[in-house]
Amino acid sequence: MKLLNKISRWFLLPSDRKINKLIKDFAAKTKIIQSDHHGFSITNFDEEGKATILWKDLEDVKIENGRLITIQHRKTKHVLTADDIGWYQLIQQVPPGFKSYDYAYVKNFFLNLTGCKICGLMAVEDKECLACGSAVWNPEMLDSYDSEAEYLKQEQICLFEPIDDEKIDISNRPENGFQSDPTWKPLISREDLEG
Ligand SMILES: [Zn+2]
Repeated sequence: MKLLNKISRWFLLPSDRKINKLIKDFAAKTKIIQSDHHGFSITNFDEEGKATILWKDLEDVKIENGRLITIQHRKTKHVLTADDIGWYQLIQQVPPGFKSYDYAYVKNFFLNLTGCKICGLMAVEDKECLACGSAVWNPEMLDSYDSEAEYLKQEQICLFEPIDDEKIDISNRPENGFQSDPTWKPLISREDLEG
């Protein structure tokens, strides 16, 4: 999961109390959702506690302000937000038939996303990529980078750099519910990551 790589790289900065606290806060708040057409599971980031829920057992599913989904399962109400990993996949997996669910909203949301020049997924909404977390280039960045190409290359190196003995894989395979942009071409090559 590319975004996860990027996040873990931020956390690999020299550790001090502040970074430890950041990690703890992130782990406490973020859930990992895995979903398919049968149902989904919710795991806490620290991998404690796992709930597995089948779509057929749900009373109701509702999407609110495009940022969270509430799920009524027996007596428990689950609230999952767009910051949870796997959320964008989940909202597309909700099977037809839930009266409160805004299927048209979800369909239009994905139709309106544009391609990310960094990760190559159709995931850009309002100047930010929802898949890799990168900002879309804007001329103000000339303060920090010589050109747009340099910015894109730096971001791609950060995103695709393998961690430990991971294999180098510069690709834009669909991930977390986001489709590939067929026009995308990476600006980096294996050599940029091997150095
Ligand atoms: Zn991206």
